[in-house]
Amino acid sequence: MVVLDNKLDRPQQVDLDRCVHCGLCLNACPTYRELGVEMDSPRGRIYQMVQVHNGAPITPAYVEHIELCLACRSCETACPSGVQYGRLVEAARAHIESQMVRPWYARAFRRFIFGHLLQSPALLRIAGAGLYLYELSGLQRLVRASGVLKAFGNLAAVEQLSPPAEPPFFFDKIGKTFPAEGARRHRVAFLAGCIANVSFARLNEATVRVLQKNGCEVVIPRGQTCCGALHVHSGLREDARKLARRNLDAIDPGDYDAILTNAAGCGSTLKEYDELLEHDSAYRDRAREFKRKMRDVTEFLAAIELNPDMAPVEAVATYQDSCHLLHGQKVKLPPRNLLKSVPGLQFKELPYSDICCGSAGIYNVLQNEMAMAVLDSKMQNVNRTRAGLIVTANPGCMLQLRAGVKLHGHNQRVLHVVEVLDEAYRGVEASAKRRKD
Ligand code: SF4
Ligand code: SF4
Repeated sequence: MVVLDNKLDRPQQVDLDRCVHCGLCLNACPTYRELGVEMDSPRGRIYQMVQVHNGAPITPAYVEHIELCLACRSCETACPSGVQYGRLVEAARAHIESQMVRPWYARAFRRFIFGHLLQSPALLRIAGAGLYLYELSGLQRLVRASGVLKAFGNLAAVEQLSPPAEPPFFFDKIGKTFPAEGARRHRVAFLAGCIANVSFARLNEATVRVLQKNGCEVVIPRGQTCCGALHVHSGLREDARKLARRNLDAIDPGDYDAILTNAAGCGSTLKEYDELLEHDSAYRDRAREFKRKMRDVTEFLAAIELNPDMAPVEAVATYQDSCHLLHGQKVKLPPRNLLKSVPGLQFKELPYSDICCGSAGIYNVLQNEMAMAVLDSKMQNVNRTRAGLIVTANPGCMLQLRAGVKLHGHNQRVLHVVEVLDEAYRGVEASAKRRKD
């Protein structure tokens, strides 16, 4: 893992100067809403970044305030001055990373997760198999019932949030091409993610099926790797650049009508490869071309003529915006429009759906207390809608909301938008089969 202290990977004067300290972003900020502390608001964090930019030392308090930020970018949407807060906080974290000496065990852990596990299908398979055994053997039930993890700080809470293992894993589909159903109207590349190959294998399969139903030939390009979003959020921009170059080597944007992801958190980083590689003359142009083709799957499906041959999905559904889709990519209506096109589905807006659920990549693991406080508020609003189905557009949000249902919910189902569409399309197939039988 390479950590560089360069002048580029830190907040830039031009970005800091955009903030006029008006405070209009404060109420959009989940950490400010929970704590009411200026230093944990966007304006307060920018103020601290300015101090550090002007030569103040990086103190533990500064690190704490920057790390407590969810990087949800809700403040970016609220800001009338066009402050690019996501860019600022990612740069601040990269700067901290280049200056901070972590204890050896924290360095070893981070090196393993970011430098090896997320980048290696072999290690992810092993981890997934271990997780599956842990679930299947009953050990997970035993551990949870015994409460033994409570002796290890917030490990018990974190364990509840661990993603499930979903064998057969999606890795076997990488390198394959899935034909369009009926006439081919589009040729798309699908980026399957890293952990999602293990923990959201069924969601990835559903995504491919829905795209096929909509006239897409779906290519899962060989050589693709983790997008680097978690690295960017953790200040490891050089590692993220390496992964971006690997993906750019693996995928020629000219071969496809669109390059798709079903993970909004990945999507915002993938759409910012041009920014990540803006100083890399060998990759800059390709990164721009890649960005031009990059779409969230909901954005893509809502823009094409959607196959209307769906069976009813009888449910009251509400939608939680994924921050990196709404605030990072400015995609608001497409997922809602897709849900409204499903027959039988009654759509109810969720109050404050634009406020983070507390997932934020691995924030809920690293800052569990704040993540749970944010989730608590979220679930109060979800319960008010009386919806039986909570829909979102990002695997990380799905995990967080599922934990929210267990803690504060009423047995609601949590699905991705494409899983709802998949259910509707499969309903047609199921009734055709019943008629045949
Ligand atoms: S980030 Fe934007 S909204 Fe917030 S204080 Fe600065 S200028 Fe105002
Ligand atoms: S990114 Fe989210 S948590 Fe961070 S300052 Fe902005 S609104 Fe607050």
